Amino acid sequence: MQKGQIRVQTENIFPIIKKFLYSDHEIFLRELVSNAVDASQKIKTLSSIGEAKGELGELRIDVVLDAKEKTLSIIDRGVGMTAEEVDKYINQVAFSGAEEFMNKYKDANIIGHFGLGFYSAFMVSDKVELYSKSFKDESGVYWSCDGSPEFELYNVDYNNRGTKIVLHINEESQEFLDAERIRGILKRFCKFLPIPIFFSEAGV
Ligand code: ADP
Ligand code: MG
Repeated sequence: MQKGQIRVQTENIFPIIKKFLYSDHEIFLRELVSNAVDASQKIKTLSSIGEAKGELGELRIDVVLDAKEKTLSIIDRGVGMTAEEVDKYINQVAFSGAEEFMNKYKDANIIGHFGLGFYSAFMVSDKVELYSKSFKDESGVYWSCDGSPEFELYNVDYNNRGTKIVLHINEESQEFLDAERIRGILKRFCKFLPIPIFFSEAGV
């Protein structure tokens, strides 16, 4: 188990996100699905050049809404991440990238049309959880962050290659617990992607 501080100067990322990304909250879904597509394309490539051994399996992305639990999950069968990679790509890159972005575009009008990648999940979430299993022979990992600079990262028994992101949708974003709303966004943003996207509702 590893506990630590997200490497970003700001105390709390929520105020920044709310301030700069007040419009267009729905882009979070496009960002997370894009990451899932990227991860799926990567495993395809690694498999084709023989770097990833074993079954490729069906490459698909599932978006699962659980209105009762107030969660929205994005699940892929892509490359996955090791603990080290989560620390490198999620803790460092996503958050320092956001800061860089803020400094660069503070006064520009393009804010709101720009994605912040993984980080945009916090626009609509109180808490984000991530489960991942790399195609490499390493343990599954669990990461979570509630938007404060503290995160948790530890090994878990998650054995499906790929990544599952669980968003705990915040009070102001309850619209994203509506199935039709999510279907609409997926239709608009995620129509012509190279990996099929399946939407489902838990318990339905
Ligand atoms: P970008 O996609 O522009 O690199 P993101 O903030 O969206 O920036 O993601 C940061 C990094 O985190 C990605 O480059 C990738 O290495 C890793 N990552 C994010 N989501 C996934 C995922 N679903 N599967 C594997 N790696 C991921
Ligand atoms: Mg991205």
